[in-house]
Amino acid sequence: MKPFFPCLVILVASTGHVLAGSRVFQPNLSAAHLDRRSWVFDKERKLQTTWPNRQIRYCFENDEAADAIREPLEEAHTLWQRSGLGAEFTIAEVGEQECQEHPQSTLLVQWTGDEGKMATSIGLLNHNRPHMLLTTSIHMGMLDQVLNFAHELGHAWGLMHEHQNPNFWSSGIIENAKGGTVFGPENHGNWRCENLKDYKEQFGIHNPVRNPGYNNGFGPSTSPADMCKSYEYAATNGFTAGDYLPMPSHHGIGGSEGKTGDDVDWDSIMLSRNRS
Ligand SMILES: [Zn+2]
Repeated sequence: MKPFFPCLVILVASTGHVLAGSRVFQPNLSAAHLDRRSWVFDKERKLQTTWPNRQIRYCFENDEAADAIREPLEEAHTLWQRSGLGAEFTIAEVGEQECQEHPQSTLLVQWTGDEGKMATSIGLLNHNRPHMLLTTSIHMGMLDQVLNFAHELGHAWGLMHEHQNPNFWSSGIIENAKGGTVFGPENHGNWRCENLKDYKEQFGIHNPVRNPGYNNGFGPSTSPADMCKSYEYAATNGFTAGDYLPMPSHHGIGGSEGKTGDDVDWDSIMLSRNRS
C-alpha cells in the first residue's frame, strides 16, 4: 500500500545539519543526503486514516488558544506549502458547532501555554478525537515556533518521526530494530539515552516500570533499563525515549527500505530534537 503523502518536506534549518546539536544521536555528518524520505502510519492497522479531501479541519479549544496560536499555525502550513507540500493539502478552521458536533473529524487544537508541551495525534483517528497540543515556548524542539508547529502539523498529516523507522536501527539490544547502520548502540554508540532531558527524572519515578505487555501497563515489571531499549516500554511509561526509539515495523511505512545514513532525510522536519 502506498502512503497518501507524496513526499516529505525538506526544511533546511538555520543550523545546517538538523541533528548537529543533538546530544542523543551523533550522526555521521558526511551521511547527509537530500532525497525525500518519510515514515507514515500504516492504514492497515485501522487505528488512523487520512483526512478526507486532504484537508485538516480544526478548531481551537478556546479564544485564548486561538489568540495565542492561530497565526503561527497558519504560518506553519504556509511553510509546508513553500517547502513543496501540494496545494491540495489544506487546513481549515471550523466553527464551534462543527467542532462540537463532529469531534472525531475535527482536530482540537489546545494551547499549553508558554512552557507547555507539544504532541499531536497521527492522522485522523478511527475511534477518538484527534488532538494537537502546542506551546509558545521556543526553548524546545527546533527552537522556533513556526518550525515546531510545522513539525506538529506533519504528525496531523500522518507523518511519524523518521528516525523511529526500525530499518535505521542496529540489531542488538534495541527492540524492533532491523539491522540498520545509522542509529543504535552498535553503530558507534549512536544512541545516548542517558542524555535525554527526562532520563534522571523518569528513572527516579518509575520503579517498578510499567509493563506494556499487560493490561494498562500494570503487570510484572522488569528493569528500568528496558525504557532505553524498548519503544513500547518508553511510550507506556511516558519517557521521551518513546519519541526516538524504533517502532514495530508494522506501525508504519517507510519511504525507502534502505538501512543506511543515505536513506535518512537528515533535513527532515520530522526528526526529533533534544536541545534541552
Ligand atoms: Zn514529533
